[in-house]
Amino acid sequence: MTALFPPPSPLRLRLSAEALAHNWRWLAGQGSAACGAAVKANGYGTGATDVVRLLGAAGCRDFFTATWAEALAIRNAAADANISVLHGVREDDMPLALAGFARPVLNTPDQVRRWRDAGGGVCDVMIDTGMNRLGLSLADVSSGLLDGLTIETLTSHLASADEDVPQNGEQLAAFRAAVAAIPHRRASLANSAGICLGNDYHFDLTRPGLALYGGIPRPEAAPHIRAVVQAEAQILQLRTVAAGQAVGYNATWRADRDTRVAIINLGYADGYLRAFSGKGSASIGGYHLPVIGRVSMDLVALALPEGLDVGESDWVAIDYDLSQASCLSGLSPYELLTGLGARYDRLWT
Ligand SMILES: *Cc1c(COP(=O)(O)O)cnc(C)c1O
Repeated sequence: MTALFPPPSPLRLRLSAEALAHNWRWLAGQGSAACGAAVKANGYGTGATDVVRLLGAAGCRDFFTATWAEALAIRNAAADANISVLHGVREDDMPLALAGFARPVLNTPDQVRRWRDAGGGVCDVMIDTGMNRLGLSLADVSSGLLDGLTIETLTSHLASADEDVPQNGEQLAAFRAAVAAIPHRRASLANSAGICLGNDYHFDLTRPGLALYGGIPRPEAAPHIRAVVQAEAQILQLRTVAAGQAVGYNATWRADRDTRVAIINLGYADGYLRAFSGKGSASIGGYHLPVIGRVSMDLVALALPEGLDVGESDWVAIDYDLSQASCLSGLSPYELLTGLGARYDRLWT
């Protein structure tokens, strides 16, 4: 039998390796701390193994995943680097965790006991400094819970580093108290936005995610962060919609004159959510193509301007500037990136 291979996808992400490495170097250059990379959620939708390989070549030595499945997926790409699993260890994770290619970030007293009882080696620990998400409280720790553990990285996470609010300073003070009280090799507090808060927040290791992938964590980073992701979709059908006719589910757009329309291979199953219905746009050859009607699961309709000559299977670029698309759709830049699904071909150049 002949082997069958899938054809190229009618949907692709053009990803800039140069922009990714530039963003990492800019973040790394903000202070003297080592700079890691959060690569959870498939590298924020861009492709975790490629991101690890590219950032490893740029000098990154610390990668953060949410789960053990994510850590396993980047294992080979991160051969010379540290992998930390932010969600710690459940009982089900223990066989993989004890294999030793990544460290758990221990978050709860149960996780600490599980790790110690199993004779797990070096680990990381997350301290909750006021976000009330994952992490041990300082009260948990003061009773000697961590005695005897070898802690590589002591971490905490900032809840509001994208804003100028007292919570940042409060979390900084709480983390300093933890750093003073708990033996560790390295301390790590800042995400992308936290890096922009200045040196006080950097400690030994930073953990940016969003800004690596082109998201703007705080306005002061905007001139320095480059776009990494450009989505492109192929035209599947061209039609002329006669004046008075409607397009798409529930007929939310109606032609006020005869209108040329392109149907493209993109939909909410690809992360292009219905929030872009009647609001999003694409471009080809310098022309602006507004989204008309509802975004479907796999399809979007674009109005074609007069004078534009396109054909079936031509590619259009989706307007997906993270800041603009975020304002337009009400989705956060994190949601815009991590929603990019499995149906894109991911092409790094
Ligand atoms: C996701 C995450 C990061 C990265 O945050 P960004 O805001 O994307 O830079 C860092 N640390 C922890 C604990 C995280 O969960």
